[in-house]
Amino acid sequence: MSSIEIPFAIGQQVWHVGSGYRQEWIECPECAGTKAITMIQGNGVQVSLACAACSAGYEPPRGVIQRTYYEHRPVQVMLRRVEVRGNEIQLITARARLAVCQEKNRKDNK
Ligand SMILES: [Zn+2]
Repeated sequence: MSSIEIPFAIGQQVWHVGSGYRQEWIECPECAGTKAITMIQGNGVQVSLACAACSAGYEPPRGVIQRTYYEHRPVQVMLRRVEVRGNEIQLITARARLAVCQEKNRKDNK
């Protein structure tokens, strides 16, 4: 018979890596906001094309694209519940379900 050590207690404040993000509109890096790309053919003729990088589907180009910045900041959370299923421990907070790394427990239980 094996046992699993639960590393935290209910009601305890712990640090957790948050999964926040923000989105911003930035100038299209392909057309520099001009909404067009210039192509030079083999015979030297220049052709202007609608920029595909800043157009969504069949919409015309916008000159801007939306970029997502992920911000994994440490946040402090309070543990409200612990769930144990086999060798897995999940700590439940008001907003999230956190998995506890069981590498140590796996080794100990072999
Ligand atoms: Zn563009």
